[in-house]
Amino acid sequence: MNRPIPGTVQVAVRHILSDNTTGVLTKTRSITWRDTRYRVRRPASGKHTVQLTCSACEAAVLAEVRDEAGTRRTTTVLRALAALCVLVLVVAFGYAVHEGGKTLPEGQSSPVLFPISIIAIALALIAAPLFFAKSLRYTGVSLLNAPKLHGIMPVRN
Ligand SMILES: [Zn+2]
Repeated sequence: MNRPIPGTVQVAVRHILSDNTTGVLTKTRSITWRDTRYRVRRPASGKHTVQLTCSACEAAVLAEVRDEAGTRRTTTVLRALAALCVLVLVVAFGYAVHEGGKTLPEGQSSPVLFPISIIAIALALIAAPLFFAKSLRYTGVSLLNAPKLHGIMPVRN
């Protein structure tokens, strides 16, 4: 079992073995990779750089690891942004329904806020899940430098 160990974070160095897209009308993308898992130590404060090695090709991959407090702050900000988007969504939706349901007198056009509320709804609908997904995946580890076809994947404890 992967129990969280304080002061450390799990990451995987991903080596993309192949990335093929087949088919003409319906495209199927098949990616194969090999992950090398590491448990890296977090710095007491700020951020530090760790060097990891890909087990598939022995390439060096540089990653930056943030301290626990900084990571938690970013996660909190991302969640707050997601919550804010939901709030905007609710308010803009309520407004749009209210304005859209009105019958306007002859010659009077909808207030300028109406199209803005529609745009706000569309943006919030896209942004809310993005921020939320990002907050779940954010572990405070980011890729600094790696050869082509390599990446750092977050590993959830
Ligand atoms: Zn590799």
